[in-house]
This record gives sequence, structure tokens and C-alpha cells, in this order.
Amino acid sequence: MSAHIIDGKAIAADLRARVKTEVDRLARTGLVPGIAVVLVGHNPASEVYVRSKAGQVTAAGMRSFDHRLPEDASEAALLALVAQLNADPAVHGILVQLPLPPQIDATRIIDAIDPGKDVDGFHPLNAGRLAIGLPALVPCTPLGCVMLAKTVRPSLAGLDAVVIGRSNVVGKPLAQLLIAESATVTVAHSKTRDLPALCRSKDLLFAAIGRPEMVRRDWIKPGATVIDVGINRIPAADGKTRIVGDVAFAEAREVAGAVTPVPGGVGPMTIACLLVNTLRAACRAKGLPPPAL
Ligand code: NAP
Repeated sequence: MSAHIIDGKAIAADLRARVKTEVDRLARTGLVPGIAVVLVGHNPASEVYVRSKAGQVTAAGMRSFDHRLPEDASEAALLALVAQLNADPAVHGILVQLPLPPQIDATRIIDAIDPGKDVDGFHPLNAGRLAIGLPALVPCTPLGCVMLAKTVRPSLAGLDAVVIGRSNVVGKPLAQLLIAESATVTVAHSKTRDLPALCRSKDLLFAAIGRPEMVRRDWIKPGATVIDVGINRIPAADGKTRIVGDVAFAEAREVAGAVTPVPGGVGPMTIACLLVNTLRAACRAKGLPPPAL
């Protein structure tokens, strides 16, 4: 059996095109969604990511406001910038790129962002609303994971799902979204006993671990849908490095029903979902109904 490869790149491109159609429609009413991206310091991975975000934001017809603070910026300086962006009516979404330098407490920064502009979905108010089943801005990566799973299983109701990882940015919100889809969800982590056997009984397997190729062939139920969130850089044969996921892809594709590749799976969906969240935030700010995407 050879699994269907879930083409995250193509699915994300299609989602971005649908976002653009909505943005063009809103532009005729005078509303242009805007997102402010704040980068502190010079983390190379963050810089690449922020550049890629800015390009996709403008390609979708939205405004992108870039803010750079030096590596040694104080927490007070970042809080002042967040307050300024909270008050700016042209800014509908605020994203403070993590990780932050050690002198800045990320929790205090996230708490300071207007929950209505919290397009990362990390603010406790949005996390709480998601947990109790109210409309919320939802973290982009988990949102993308569920969208990808639904391209092969349009209804997740009644399916058994395992989420490996319980971080606030991926594992926990992903579990909440799956519960909202009426899946039966198990959240696994580093203390879980006999993880391979646990995973082997699940229709849906989401790996958000940060361990290269940890999920092997015998962890996967034949025909299962496997969504690989992991991004791990490992040494390559030519002395360079390459990116792999948390799932041993070549093994998974022999047994799964469908599997996402890394790169080209969850990654492209994350930025596309950021555009979705910004569009939703802009509509909500103007009292318009949420866009049909
Ligand atoms: P994280 O905060 O480090 O969380 C990792 C989770 O994996 C923790 O809950 C940890 O358990 C669990 N874990 C670690 N080792 C384990 C083991 N041996 N067995 C079972 N569980 C284990 O990471 P994260 O931020 O959620 O990210 C996870 C991965 O997704 C990373 O590779 C990251 O780069 C990637 N990621 C990708 C995107 C994207 O856009 N594609 C976005 C975000 C993250 P404990 O809680 O018990 O420690």
C-alpha cells in the first residue's frame, strides 16, 4: 500500500487564493486587513519566516507592517510597541515572533496583545474560548493540521485520534480543535507509556514532538491519516543539513492511508492560516460576519 501524500503546498496555495478573493471583496468596502509582525533581535530562522510571511501577506492583498527591535530591547519597549499596535485601527492582527530574547517574558507580551488582534491565538482569552467551544482566534499550526486532515477525511466525527505533544502552541490547541470536530482524542507526551502501541490503534495520528523521525512504521495503524508537524534539521550525507519531520516518512507512506510530507505539509498551511486569522480579525473588528472560507 502506498499512502496518499497530502500536498500541503497546493492546499495552502488554494486557501491563500480563497483568502485573496475575500480580501478583494472587502477592499471594495474600504476595509484592508492589516497585520503587524514584530521581530526582536536577529534569530536567522525567525528572519526567514518573517520575510516569507510579509511576502504572502502582501500577495493576499493585505497590509503588512514590519517592526524590528534590537536584540537588547527591553520588555517595556516591546510592551509600548504592543500598546501602540493595539490602538492602531489599520492593524487587525499582531504577531510577535517567538522566541524572544531572555530579558523579555513572552507570557507578559502575549497577555498584553488585544485578544481581538491575537492572530497567533496564544492569548489566554482565546485559548480559554477555544477550550469551552466559543468562537476564538485559534493557533495557526493546529488549524492547518485539522484542515489538512479534513482534505482526506471530511468528517473527523467518531474517529480515534492521538496527538503526540502537549505544547501550548501545537498539541493542546490541536486536541481542542479535534474535540470540537467530535474526534475521540488522546494527548500523548514524554511520560506516556508504550506510545507505539497507543498510536497503532488510532485512525488519526498527529506528531508534534520535535524528535526527528520518531514515529515509525509499526506505530501506524494501516490506513491511518498521519499529520507530521515536526521540523527537525539533521546532518545530510553531503556534509550539509536537511529538514525531516517527526515521522519516518518513507516508512509511513507504506502503511498509512495518507501522510503529510516535511517540508511541504503542515509548514505552508501555518502562514496560510495566519492570513485566515487576520481576515477573521479584520471582519470582527468591523462587525462583519466571518468570511466563508
Ligand atoms: P515543544 O514545545 O518542544 O513540545 C514537544 C512535545 O513533545 C512536548 O509535549 C513533549 O512532552 C513531547 N515529547 C518530547 N519528547 C517526547 C517523546 N520521546 N515521547 C513523547 N512525547 C515527547 O514543541 P512544539 O513547539 O509543540 O513543536 C513540536 C514540533 O513541531 C517541533 O519540531 C517544531 O519545530 C514543530 N513546529 C512546526 C510548525 C510548523 O509550522 N510546521 C509550527 C510549530 C512547531 P512533555 O510535555 O512531556 O515534555
